[in-house]
Amino acid sequence: MSQSLKLIRSFLLLSCVATAAVVVAIFVNFQFRTERLTEDILLQQARALFTEMVLNRQGLPAPGAVHAASHTPREPASRFLAASTNSGLAEKKDGLKLHLATLTPVANQASAPDPFERQALLAFANGAKEAHVIENTASGEVYRYMAPLCLRPDCRNCPDSQGCENKDVRSGVSITIPMASLSAGLAENRRVALLNALLVVALLSGFLFFQSTRCMRRMEAAQAHLTTMATLDSLTGLLNRRTVYERLEEEIAKHRRFKTPLSCLLLDIDHFKEVNDSYGHLAGDAVLVALAENLKSHSRRYDIISRYGGEEFLIILPVTDLAAAVAVAEKLRQQIADFRVSFADTTLQVTVSIGVAQFLAAEQADDLVGRADTALYQAKRDSRNRVVAFAA
Ligand code: GH3
Ligand code: MG
Ligand code: MG
Repeated sequence: MSQSLKLIRSFLLLSCVATAAVVVAIFVNFQFRTERLTEDILLQQARALFTEMVLNRQGLPAPGAVHAASHTPREPASRFLAASTNSGLAEKKDGLKLHLATLTPVANQASAPDPFERQALLAFANGAKEAHVIENTASGEVYRYMAPLCLRPDCRNCPDSQGCENKDVRSGVSITIPMASLSAGLAENRRVALLNALLVVALLSGFLFFQSTRCMRRMEAAQAHLTTMATLDSLTGLLNRRTVYERLEEEIAKHRRFKTPLSCLLLDIDHFKEVNDSYGHLAGDAVLVALAENLKSHSRRYDIISRYGGEEFLIILPVTDLAAAVAVAEKLRQQIADFRVSFADTTLQVTVSIGVAQFLAAEQADDLVGRADTALYQAKRDSRNRVVAFAA
C-alpha cells in the first residue's frame, strides 16, 4: 500500500476515534449536568418544604414526634406536620418523610437522630446551615435534606425563626424524598442518551469511512493510471524504453546468477516515413498499434516486448542463445511481411529489419542493445526486410 493510502487510513482511524471521544465527552457532560440539575431541583423542593413548615410554626410537632401524613402540593406542610402522631416513623403514600430529630431526645426515642441526622446536627452546631445527601436504602435511592431548628426557650414546640447561636442548635428537621421513580427516569434518560451517542458515532464513522474509501479508490485509480503512464507506451501499450531497461537489468542479473543465455532483438519498420507521408500520421499510428499487437500475439509468454523509439521495438529473449534468437527473429520478420493492416479504405503492409545480439559476460545492458543496433544497421544496409545477427 502506498504512503498516501496509509496516511488516509490513519486519518480515517484517528477521525473515528476523535469522533467517538467527542461524542462520549458530550454524553458524559450531559449526564453529569442532568444529575446536578436533578439534585438542585430536589434541594429546592426540600428547602421549600422546610420553609413552609417553619412559617406555619403552629403546626410544628413536639420534639421527638415523627410525622408522616398524606402531604401533597395541595396540602400544606403545616397540616402534614400538624397531623402529629407518636407512633414512630410512618410513611405517607408517596414515601415522603419528615423527622424532627434532636441530639438530646427527652420524651421518647423517636427523636433520636439516625447517622445522617447526627452528622448534620453536629455540623449545624459548627455553623452549617443545611445538609443534604443521596442515600441508598433497601427501597431504593432517597434524597436526604436537613436544616437546623431553633426552638424558643418559652415554648419547646415553637420554632424560633429569629435565629439562635450555633452552639444552641440541638434539633433539626430532616426531610427524606424517595428517588425511585426519579432514578428510573434518569436511568431511562441515560439509556436514550447512550443510544443517541452510539447512533451519532456510528453515523459519523460510517460517513467518514464511506468518504475515505471513495477517496482512496480514486487515489488508487489515479495512482494506477500514473504507474501505467510511467511504465507503458501510451500509443501501443507496450513497455516503454525506461521500463524495458529495468527489465533487462533484471534479466542480466538472472543470467549472471543462473548462467542461462540471454539475447535481444532490435526491430525497425522499413521505410516507415513513407507510410506517414503517403497515408498520413494516423495511418502510421494504426500500423504501430497493429504491429505491437502482432508482436505480442506471436511472442513467447516470457519474452519482453517494448517500444524502444518511434518505429523501433526492443524484444528481450530470456534463456535464448544467439541461434535461437535468430530463429525467433526470422519467424517474426516473415510473419510481419505477411501481415496486413487495415486503415480506413486502405490495406497497409510493412516489413521490418531486425538486429540480433546475445548478451556477453561482463558487458552492460547498453552494450547488448548497442550491438543489436549495429546488427540492425547492417540489416538496413543489406536492403532491409532481413535479420542480421551481431558477429562477435
Ligand atoms: P528506415 O527504413 O531507414 O528505417 O526508414 P524509415 O523511414 O523507417 O526511418 P526514418 O528514421 O527516416 O523515419 C522514421 C519515421 O517514423 C519518421 C517519424 O515521423 C515516424 N514516426 C516516429 N514515431 C511515430 C509515431 O508515433 N507515429 C507515427 N505515425 N510516425 C512516427
Ligand atoms: Mg528508425
Ligand atoms: Mg525505420
